[in-house]
Amino acid sequence: MKKDFTPEDELLFLALGGSGEIGMNVNLYGCRGRWLMVDLGMSFSGGEYPGVDLVFADLEFMEERADTLDGIVLTHAHEDHIGAVPYFAADLGVPLYATPFTADLVARKLAEAGLTDEVELNIIEEDHGKLTVGPFTITYIPLAHSIAEGNALLIETPFGRVFHTGDWKLDDDPIIGEPTTEEELQAIGDEGVLALVCDSTNVFNPAPSGSEGAVHRGLLEEVQRHAGKRVLVTTFASNVARLQTLGDVARETGRELVIAGRSLERIIEVAQDNGYLEDFPERVDWDTAMKLPRGEVLILATGGQGEPRAALARVAEGTHPLELTRGDVVLFSSRQIPGNELAIGLVQNRLAARGIVMVTDRQSEIHVSGHPGRPELETLYGWLRPEILVPVHGEMRHMQEQARVGLGCGIPDAVVQANGDLCRLAPGKPGKIAEVRAGRLVLDGDIIVPADGDAITMRRRMARDGMVIVVLGKGGSAHVEAIGLPLDEDEGAFIAEAKADIAAAFSKLKGPARSDRAEIMETARLAARRAAARWSGKKPQVRVIIPEDAETRR
Ligand SMILES: [Zn+2]
Ligand SMILES: [Zn+2]
Repeated sequence: MKKDFTPEDELLFLALGGSGEIGMNVNLYGCRGRWLMVDLGMSFSGGEYPGVDLVFADLEFMEERADTLDGIVLTHAHEDHIGAVPYFAADLGVPLYATPFTADLVARKLAEAGLTDEVELNIIEEDHGKLTVGPFTITYIPLAHSIAEGNALLIETPFGRVFHTGDWKLDDDPIIGEPTTEEELQAIGDEGVLALVCDSTNVFNPAPSGSEGAVHRGLLEEVQRHAGKRVLVTTFASNVARLQTLGDVARETGRELVIAGRSLERIIEVAQDNGYLEDFPERVDWDTAMKLPRGEVLILATGGQGEPRAALARVAEGTHPLELTRGDVVLFSSRQIPGNELAIGLVQNRLAARGIVMVTDRQSEIHVSGHPGRPELETLYGWLRPEILVPVHGEMRHMQEQARVGLGCGIPDAVVQANGDLCRLAPGKPGKIAEVRAGRLVLDGDIIVPADGDAITMRRRMARDGMVIVVLGKGGSAHVEAIGLPLDEDEGAFIAEAKADIAAAFSKLKGPARSDRAEIMETARLAARRAAARWSGKKPQVRVIIPEDAETRR
């Protein structure tokens, strides 16, 4: 590697997102002066950034050397793998590659952003499609996951082959798609795998993820158990196999299917355009559904993560045209994404208060994960027999644990890395060789800014501490305003005292300090802050303003 991080005669790996967190996956492979990007995902803010919904990996490292990037290969269509495409792909200026279902969803995102002509999007055959990007030859290896067209990538490099799993599980009854067989994965292992770059999400799960086919039985039983009641099922819209299952369950239980939520409508449309959900039942509209006997309706709704504007939250509030009443049933055919527990709890409490029966994946087998539990990881290690394990797609504790499991299974080397750790996979002993800039960006309103930048930092402080504004007038007078301080009826008294304190502090200024603008502002700031602390016990942000026409000696 040259000093400017140009890969030389070597194979480098660098995560800019998704290693040390679950979400916003961005992985880079470097070889002989060129880079390949795998996935360009985003995360949803769990409230840690006030006023922000979307979080992105900081791509500065790649943007600064964009002329050495040859392409972006997308494994599958989950937002943590494609969500950042509309925000960054045009600037990176390289071709994108994806299988048809993924490409269709990406194309819609690009169209919505008005970028269709700005980004080259190439569709790769979904069954073992192959492509060459710079020094890398890539084969898509279909694996089961919780979305149509989940793929690993087999990346051939001059230094050996990397098996980049993407998100995966083992499922002998996946309902949708044909995952690569054990025999084929064994054969890939026979030919030699240098590095396995692998999903760590569920490494702490001691059991296998379970089959989508079993979910069919679980959902069918639950819907049958609640004959005569209106049943609403909420699931991740992108889980096409689950939608297929629910369509089948509706038919098998003699219920009409009704859809609530735009993301569900969109996925059904994209799936059908790409040859999935071909025998999915016709849907009835909301009016028709509400006129049917209660036991003849199955509602598919978004909002299982507690999203406040989604269909389920509105059903729970009683503000949605689709109504549930005492004794009706909501099935949560999804898991709680960490960080969403409070929002989900809020919706569930509203439903409970109205006497609506809820069933989650803890009471009944109505959901399985799309990520491998430890037994599946161990099975894949045995098939592929890699020389190096690189855990990704996990928080540090998940990745560390996967390394431990992998080494325990006899993999000779494991590289535990985090976003920004530049690692050499070959030649020589694999490991971290340098640290590059990696960070987070947030979409704040219409602007993408650093997550640790001034705007977010100040907004956090204001949210925590409140704010006092001091406007200095002529002759030492001051106007004081308190925002977000717990003063109530004491506010007037606080303001009077803050003004008096400011005037008193000015009177102590001596000589040149009396006309030093910075000195005056700092004096006023400290006086107002001390007054606020005395009255409220809080130390608010204080902004001091001197209007131009008020410039004067104190
Ligand atoms: Zn995924
Ligand atoms: Zn993922």
